[in-house]
Amino acid sequence: MLDTQTIQIQKTTASRLSSVDFANLDFGAVFSDHMLVIDYANGEWQTPTIVPFADFKVSPANPALHYGQAIFEGMKAYKNEQGDISVFRPVANLDRLNLSAERLCMPSLPEELFMQGLTELLRLDADWIPSAAGSALYIRPFMFATGEFLGVRPATEYRFAIITCPVNAYYSAPLRVKVEETYVRSVEGGFGFAKAAGNYAGSLLPAKKAFEAGYHQLLWTDGKTHEYFEESGTMNLMFIINNTLLTPALSTSILAGITRDSILQLAKDQGITVEERKISVAEVMQAIQQGTLQEAFGCGTAAVISQIVTIGYQGQDYDLPAVETRKFSPKLGQALDDIRTGKAADTHGWMVQI
Ligand code: PMP
Repeated sequence: MLDTQTIQIQKTTASRLSSVDFANLDFGAVFSDHMLVIDYANGEWQTPTIVPFADFKVSPANPALHYGQAIFEGMKAYKNEQGDISVFRPVANLDRLNLSAERLCMPSLPEELFMQGLTELLRLDADWIPSAAGSALYIRPFMFATGEFLGVRPATEYRFAIITCPVNAYYSAPLRVKVEETYVRSVEGGFGFAKAAGNYAGSLLPAKKAFEAGYHQLLWTDGKTHEYFEESGTMNLMFIINNTLLTPALSTSILAGITRDSILQLAKDQGITVEERKISVAEVMQAIQQGTLQEAFGCGTAAVISQIVTIGYQGQDYDLPAVETRKFSPKLGQALDDIRTGKAADTHGWMVQI
């Protein structure tokens, strides 16, 4: 463990806390007072710093701006009524960040450096963590190439930072989604499993077109055949068919969601049969028509569970069973929530106390 003395802390002299309306937060638009910044140079991570939230100075020849060596994470911290702070599975997020880093030729971040920096940042900005039911502090760790060159090669200098945003309970209205058969989010052998900026840039146009066609989101299909489901927008995708929870098996084209992993574990705990495998569009369409599809939903850190109520496929809309009839996903969402709020025992050791 690094000596905590090694983090250099420069506190803000002008906190913005009192100007924030915590009852009406725009997701990702209000930032807490401080940020963690750790630079990488000469083959090693430099002294971590916590400084007031402020702009970065970058060169116009910053390689991340040109070639996209940029990755990020998303997770949440919670505060209970007693004021105790905990973070949900932060090391799982760090492990995924380091997988993304490896795929994009970026340096990996040691766990102790990450946890120590995160802990100090959350303690310093503890007053920014809301405690109202469902609210949280959204934590955005990210890393990008720095330096100044236009050659297409891995950078030698990087910046890792963590910024945070207080967020209200996120209610996701039931979704109308469209099976995407033209565009792809990623392909096997690409870097869809990485939380890399470029994956999101490429998804904006197809998402915009789907929105213009009257859908909230896309159901991504595999890049080679479009026959198999992959993800739902920026969430993992799950179905309940014949009382079995089905979700696409992980591959190099799917992001391994921490929520996905947690829900699969909770489903197993509840005695639900879980199948992680290839799920064809044909299989799901048939289940809808035969009345065996009970539920479809997306899962991710932001909304936890987002119900899917309509699937658009080849020009036709298929309505799924009403949200009120769904038994499995609300129970799974509740189980996850109970662990986060301390109402249920954290048997898997997911909550890290700060
Ligand atoms: N897939 C994609 C493409 C995502 O961006 C996200 C959000 N991080 C997820 C799945 C869900 O991941 P998690 O449960 O870790 O938030």
